[in-house]
Amino acid sequence: MKKLKKIYLVSPRGFCAGVKRAVDILDLVLKKHKPPIYVRHQIVHNRHIISDFEKRGVIFVEDINNIPDGSTVIFSAHGSSPNLYQVAKRKKLKVFDATCPLVNKVHLEAKKFNGQGYFIFYIGHKNHPEAEGVLGEIPANSVVLVQTIKEAKKITPPQTDKIIVLTQTTLSFDDTKEIINYLKKRFPKLVQPPAFDICYATQNRQNAVKELAKKVDLVLVIGSKESSNSNRLKEVAEKSGKHAYLINDKSEIKLSWLENVEKLGITAGTSAPKYLIEEVINYFKKQGVTVEELSVIKENINFSLPTI
Ligand code: SF4
Repeated sequence: MKKLKKIYLVSPRGFCAGVKRAVDILDLVLKKHKPPIYVRHQIVHNRHIISDFEKRGVIFVEDINNIPDGSTVIFSAHGSSPNLYQVAKRKKLKVFDATCPLVNKVHLEAKKFNGQGYFIFYIGHKNHPEAEGVLGEIPANSVVLVQTIKEAKKITPPQTDKIIVLTQTTLSFDDTKEIINYLKKRFPKLVQPPAFDICYATQNRQNAVKELAKKVDLVLVIGSKESSNSNRLKEVAEKSGKHAYLINDKSEIKLSWLENVEKLGITAGTSAPKYLIEEVINYFKKQGVTVEELSVIKENINFSLPTI
């Protein structure tokens, strides 16, 4: 810590439009509807946000069957598979859908291309709710989940004339491109949708971290372990040749990390709230460290809220 002189606080960082929308939806539902309010899965992948809402009486559940019939439920930002909507209908749940519009876009693509007879390669993480939601849109024999190039090498699709690749929104841009390039070589007729599925917020934060890594000795990523895009930010910093740590909040900072660090870079995943970033910054400011904003990309995206 003695050597630490300067912090670069990169932007964009923290909340994206989809997370802000999901948190605002839950906040509004809490204000306008009678408790108890249930949320299927974590509304967004951040432990502080979850515990803040739990303190306000929100009940988070993984299994929709554990929600009493007729209750009010919010579906998380990561999207949900159609069978969850069917169960909700059967249980007469009042559903508010906080699925990010950019995740929804991938659901619509999956349905559309499946309807047109395409076999789908879906690049994503097994067991991630976003992947589960999209895979749930189409019959299991029309799609294959691809996580790595190694897996891509083993795929044997039922036909190779009509094949398309879709992806989870929060992946590493570079790793995903590598897998897609490999698939394109192996399957020359592979089609890509007009716009890349990795979302603007994920891409911007990864590009910003690459710039940040050029200036600093160490990168701290504020975000929870469950957060896919936060993990990717840590990996991008590491691939740029710098050590990086993922921390939930300032209490997880270890002084031993900072022993030989003069310049520290800070970023935050899309589900990390502003106050956690401010707490980390104030912690360092109190030690006399100067803080400089490093603005790499400007963002100006907002999603409208549904009627609640
Ligand atoms: S990371 Fe991207 S896809 Fe996920 S909620 Fe944010 S804007 Fe939407």
